[in-house]
Parts: sequence; structure tokens; C-alpha cells
Amino acid sequence: MSEFDYDLFVIGGGSGGVRAARVAASETGAKVALAEEDRYGGTCVQRGCVPKKFMVFASQYPSFAEDGAKYGWEMTSGAFNWPVFSDKLHAELDRLEGVYRKLLSGAGVETFDARAMVKDAHTVQLSTGETKTAKHILLAVGGAPVTPDVPGAELAITSNEVFHLERLPKRMLIIGGGYIACEFACIMNGLGTEVTQFYRGAQVLRGFDDEARGLVAEEMQQNGVDLHLGTNILEMRKEADGICVKATNGMEDHYDQVMFATGRSPNTKNIGLEEVGVEIGRQGEVVVNEYSQTTVPSIFAIGDVTDRVNLTPVAIREGMAFVETVFKANPTPVDHELIPSAVFTQPELGTVGLSEEEACEQEEIEVYCTSFRAMQTSFADRPDRVLMKLVVSKATRKVLGCHIVAPQAGEMIQLAGIAVKMGATKEDFDRTVAVHPTMSEELVTMRAPVRTG
Ligand code: NDP
Repeated sequence: MSEFDYDLFVIGGGSGGVRAARVAASETGAKVALAEEDRYGGTCVQRGCVPKKFMVFASQYPSFAEDGAKYGWEMTSGAFNWPVFSDKLHAELDRLEGVYRKLLSGAGVETFDARAMVKDAHTVQLSTGETKTAKHILLAVGGAPVTPDVPGAELAITSNEVFHLERLPKRMLIIGGGYIACEFACIMNGLGTEVTQFYRGAQVLRGFDDEARGLVAEEMQQNGVDLHLGTNILEMRKEADGICVKATNGMEDHYDQVMFATGRSPNTKNIGLEEVGVEIGRQGEVVVNEYSQTTVPSIFAIGDVTDRVNLTPVAIREGMAFVETVFKANPTPVDHELIPSAVFTQPELGTVGLSEEEACEQEEIEVYCTSFRAMQTSFADRPDRVLMKLVVSKATRKVLGCHIVAPQAGEMIQLAGIAVKMGATKEDFDRTVAVHPTMSEELVTMRAPVRTG
């Protein structure tokens, strides 16, 4: 008999926590419990990637209908019925929550619909009043949106609330220039809302390849997003005609809805971490080593709460590596190098590896790049452009970075990511025969560099 109630107690039922709990229980026979205070599936399934992607799909139909007409179809998109979509969306999220719960119970994980706090290195206190002990505790509590402290901030929503709007706003202001701000600017614009976006910096999507983010911003504006760079919010107040917002550029305007997409921070407050000696970093993140172990040896942490690479598949990997390390006696660090990812703007931005700017700092490079109008949209008389770009090491010929701006760039970068992760050289790309006619064939047909650096 173990001296503990469980071998593992997981706090947080999001993608990372559920995977770790499930695999530990089903593959190693460990006795596992998991506590979740909200809905199972966490940010990704309930308030993030999944509902966002459904909204991306919904928002694209008007342009499909417009293009369809150019292809000879007699069609118009008509009006968008938000309640119809919203009801279906929430029914789907309910279904997915059920799937997550079933996965856990099927694996023999005991679940608690409760908030959990860490009481000591092996003890968890539940909001139900119960106390449970475990040999290992895994923190997978994720993160939450942060909002700037401006007068009237309470009038705005965040990505947590955007999926629960009762009606589609006519005029919406989105503040921020990161993933969430840009994705929702495109989504709401596509759904028919008049979208204004403020970003405080010189160009949105800071950290991504300059040329790629420049094209995304250009396309967003061309599609109707009223993007104001170098602009931030000063204050807002409720008026009869909506929320009145004063901006740093002197603008004063009214909106039906204002959304902050100004970053997220780890959920490390009020769960007893510092009290038991778990080190918290400067951004409020749980500090972990390469095995996701905190400064308290029996406590581990994965996913957004560690603020390493805040993406669902990374949290899942970290959860699996934790199980390998702790329950399969196979110490497995997580490889955070060359992670492909996509921003689901319209057009999408798919990226893996170094931006041109980062690569240039590191070594001498060649840049292969082409930007063009894709067949499908150019036939429909759209001015939209796509971008295919490879950043190549002069010394090793390895492709250091691949950046794609195009419809379905997320799908493309998943595959290009395999080649880049394998260390493919520019010549390996060149040896690959083009798939014709596609947009991504340009990745294997670019002969001469457009720049060296
Ligand atoms: P990001 O960190 O990507 O962007 C935050 C944005 O808000 C930046 O543009 C930042 O500006 C701006 N900002 C921060 N503070 C303020 C302020 N006080 N006033 C005005 N602007 C401010 O965060 P997101 O919230 O967009 O997304 C969080 C994370 O979630 C992402 O980093 C990503 O890891 C993940 N995510 C991934 C997605 C995907 O894979 N497709 C989709 C959505 C989220 P500045 O650049 O100047 O700092």
C-alpha cells in the first residue's frame, strides 16, 4: 500500500493535464486523479483554438460566396445568423467536454470538479473541503488573459468572453497585435462586423518574419480591417451610442464591443505555490527544469503555466515527456526547437524556424522568396497575394526558416516543418518535384536568392 492516496494528482483539465493523466493511468497503471474547476478541455477546447477555428470557418463563407459568383455560380452569402452558429458551436463544445471526461474515466482517472490548491509537496486541498495526497503533483493550470489598467477597462471583453456574445457587434475595437488580436480582427471582419484594431507597435505580429507579417497586415487592411499602428487606448466610457474610446492618436469613436487581446499570463496566483516553495519567475510563470520539474522535486508543471512555448501541442508533448520521465523511468526532455505554428488570420501565416531578421543575426544567409497572386483568388479578381519564403544558411545550406502567407498556410507548414526539422537543405527542397498547380510548389522552384545577408 502506498503512503499516498494517488501516484499522481493533476491540477487542470486542459490539453496537457488530461493527456498526462490519461497516459500515466492507462500506460503505466498509476493511480491518478485530476481536478478541474471549470470545463474539461481547458483553454484550447473551450476558450481558444477549437471555437476560434470554427469561427474562422464561419467567417470565410461570404468570400467563398463572392468568389463563387466569379466562377459562374449564382450565389450570395445572405445574412449571418449568429444565434444559429453560436448554438451549434456550444453544442459542439459540450460534446467535446464529454469526450474529455470519457477519456479520463475510460483510463481510470478519478476526477474532481473542484478548484485545487497545493498545500504541501504531496498534498492538494480541494474546494470541496477534501484533502488528497499524491506522490507527484502535476500543475497544468494554464494561463488567462491580461488586460491593461486603463479607465473603463471593465467595459471590454477578452477572448474568454468572445465566444459567448449574445449578438454579433456592429462595430468592434480589438486592442493588441498578437495572435489573438489579429485572428479575431479577421474573424469578426469576415462575419460582417466593422472592425477597428489598435496596435501600439510599428507592425503587428511582433517576432514573426518581417516580410510575412507585413503581408498579413496588408491583406487584413485590404479585406476591411481598419488597423491603426502606433496606437493604443487611453480610456473608455459607456455612452448611449456604445462604448466611447479615446485613443493615443487623438481618435475618439464609439463601438458596440471592445476586446483586449493584450497577452496572457500564467495562472499561478492563489494556488499555494510560493508557500510550498515552488519558484515563480518574473512573468508569473512556474520555473521548471528540462524535465518540467519545479523547485519542489515532487511537483511538476507543464503547458502555459510554465510560459515556455504557449501552444496546445507543446503542452501535450510536455505532458507525455513528464509521464516518460516520472512513470516510465525514461528521462525525456522536451524538444522546443523548430516548432511549426500557424496564425489563423486571413490569409494564414505558417512559420517554422528563424525569421530572416533572427537568422541574419546568427550567420550569413540567403533569402529565397516569392510573392504572387494565387490562381484561385486571382481568377475571382481578388488582389490578394501569397508569400513563400525560405531562409537558408550560406555555410550549411540548411533551411533555417520557412514562412508562408496563404490560405491554408497552417496545413502547408505542418509538412514543410518535417523537412526543416529533419535539417533539409535548400538543395533537398530543390530535388523535390513540384506538385502542380499548387501555391506551395513555389517552395521547391525558387532558383536564385532575392537577397543575401
Ligand atoms: P501575444 O503575446 O501574442 O500578443 C499580445 C499583444 O498585446 C501584443 O501585440 C502586445 O504588444 C500587446 N500588448 C500587451 N500589453 C499591452 C498593453 N498594455 N496595451 C496595448 N497592447 C498591449 O498574446 P495573445 O493574447 O495574442 O496570445 C497569447 C498566446 O496564446 C500567444 O502568444 C500564443 O502562444 C497563444 N496563441 C496561439 C495561437 C495559434 O497558435 N494560432 C492562437 C492564439 C493564441 P507588443 O507586441 O508591443 O508587446
